[in-house]
Amino acid sequence: MQKTLVILKPSAIQRGIAGEIISRFEKKGLQIVGMKMVELSDEILENHYAHLKNKPFFSRIKNSMQTSPVILMVAKGVGAVEVVRKMAGVTNGREALPGTIRGDYSVSVQENIVHASDSIETADIEIKRFFSEDEIFEYPQQLLPNIYANDEY
Ligand code: UDP
Ligand code: MG
Repeated sequence: MQKTLVILKPSAIQRGIAGEIISRFEKKGLQIVGMKMVELSDEILENHYAHLKNKPFFSRIKNSMQTSPVILMVAKGVGAVEVVRKMAGVTNGREALPGTIRGDYSVSVQENIVHASDSIETADIEIKRFFSEDEIFEYPQQLLPNIYANDEY
């Protein structure tokens, strides 16, 4: 099974919709195996958004991510990386399809509610960036036979 990183950004925390967003992942059938609230430092954001570091708007993204604590979450499931990316929708909330998190809750490129890892490799790096090993839990997902066929997992 794959694990992927979700960040509930300040746009979710400030608007009081973090619970609703977490609930979507739970209802989908993903298992939450890690969760915590943190304030993101300059250093961790410079690593996390290294691909945007040279963009003129990098400081505005960094400031936005520091306007409140964020909730970090690790979600586990079959194909979880792609499943969660699809649930998030495309970056621009104005273009994200209705039914996706960004499509339902955002009209902005920047203030787009969630971060979701974009590949299996990235997910692995990002989970390690934000979580120590003892903050990720292994526990039985009791309803597994009701969530997947037995040859799917
Ligand atoms: N972002 C932005 N303007 C841009 C591109 C990105 O404000 O032109 C912000 C936005 O919040 C986005 C984050 O930077 O979610 C990371 O950008 P990326 O291209 O990795 O998009 P994502 O993977 O989040 O869809
Ligand atoms: Mg990205």
